[in-house]
Amino acid sequence: MNLTELHRSFTENFGRAPELIVRAPGRVNLLGEHVDYNAGPVLPVAIDRAVYIAAAPNTDGCTRLHALDLSQQVDLRPERLDARLDAAGNPLPGWACYPAGVAWVLQQEEFSTPGVFAAYTSDVPIGSGLSSSAAVEVGFAALWQALGGWSLERLALAQLCQRAENQYVGVSCGLMDQFASACGVEDHALYFDTRSLEWEPAPIPPGIALVIADSGVRRSLTHSGYNERRAACWQAVRELQAYLPGVTSLRDVAATELAAYSPYLSEIPRKRAEHVVKEIARVGSTLSALQRGDRQALGALMYAGHNSLRNLYEVSTPELDTLVELTRHLPGCIGARLTGAGFGGCTINLVELDHAQDFIIGLRDGYQQVTGRQSQVYLCHASQGVHFL
Ligand code: ADP
Ligand code: MG
Repeated sequence: MNLTELHRSFTENFGRAPELIVRAPGRVNLLGEHVDYNAGPVLPVAIDRAVYIAAAPNTDGCTRLHALDLSQQVDLRPERLDARLDAAGNPLPGWACYPAGVAWVLQQEEFSTPGVFAAYTSDVPIGSGLSSSAAVEVGFAALWQALGGWSLERLALAQLCQRAENQYVGVSCGLMDQFASACGVEDHALYFDTRSLEWEPAPIPPGIALVIADSGVRRSLTHSGYNERRAACWQAVRELQAYLPGVTSLRDVAATELAAYSPYLSEIPRKRAEHVVKEIARVGSTLSALQRGDRQALGALMYAGHNSLRNLYEVSTPELDTLVELTRHLPGCIGARLTGAGFGGCTINLVELDHAQDFIIGLRDGYQQVTGRQSQVYLCHASQGVHFL
């Protein structure tokens, strides 16, 4: 659905024209996987796929949501949010918990969330790991900020959205997704230190395309597998504390220290910790490779990251491995790796812009030949964070 259609749908639905349109992007992580819950740095990119919310104030205090992609509508009243009920007293449908959760958190913090008519659509694929959920949250937070007459820094806005997803929706995500949707910078990746919350934009060298390939596969163990990985990292920290008492997370462990003590660790925590400690180092190296425009180094770091997720962290799938292997024979590919938590989802590829169209065709065809499956492949640009059109 394009912006003209969004405008028309809003007007047909609410009998008036929208006054505001907010755009909040999805994101892809260039490198730094499974390090956010180990206090490490990540390198996400806000992409040019986004949620678009058309809106106008509603003076009776009620918020009317129309999710155009789902053909669903719900009314929210402030006093019903705590009980997760709609205005009529029915349980909120799952999709409505994302905007409702944002309103709920904002109310807790005593930021005004005036009534609004809102119709929204998105071209971030849902459930592929490109953070369609964070885009919805950040878009609504920015909308209420504009209508409520208060102002917060983008990072603080992202933190409230994370809280909405953690506490209202009930998904234990880190801050990376909401951060990227809020703070994206055009043509840049974002180096984000999840411990200090400091961040800086890192330029994507000119002439490099971001290509995202969706394996089309989602494993059912995503949730349990994720929790197991988190637990194994904690186990590694506890075991390491016998030798390194100051350590509170794997962020505190140097590669040389891990090498020295790894013979004393249990097997699974040792493998998981080796991935995390080296991945944290790779994020730092990737940041400097971006700053130098060093394509060879970028590519080597991405492939190394993928191998580590496959062999040490064990979150890859045969389909993701196939997508990455195919790129080794495609001209113009700089590097490729699985992105997101794993167990399915997408790969991220850096490709020379001149070769991007052929690369996309080659990857799609190769994937179909090997797996018999279709892959959605998207050419993306690094885009700015949430803003009004
Ligand atoms: P993702 O990896 O895409 O963030 P999640 O499972 O975290 O996947 O979030 C997907 C959920 O976010 C959807 O099930 C829906 O509830 C909400 N959502 C995402 N996009 C839209 C949309 N276009 N319209 C309404 N709700 C959406
Ligand atoms: Mg999500």
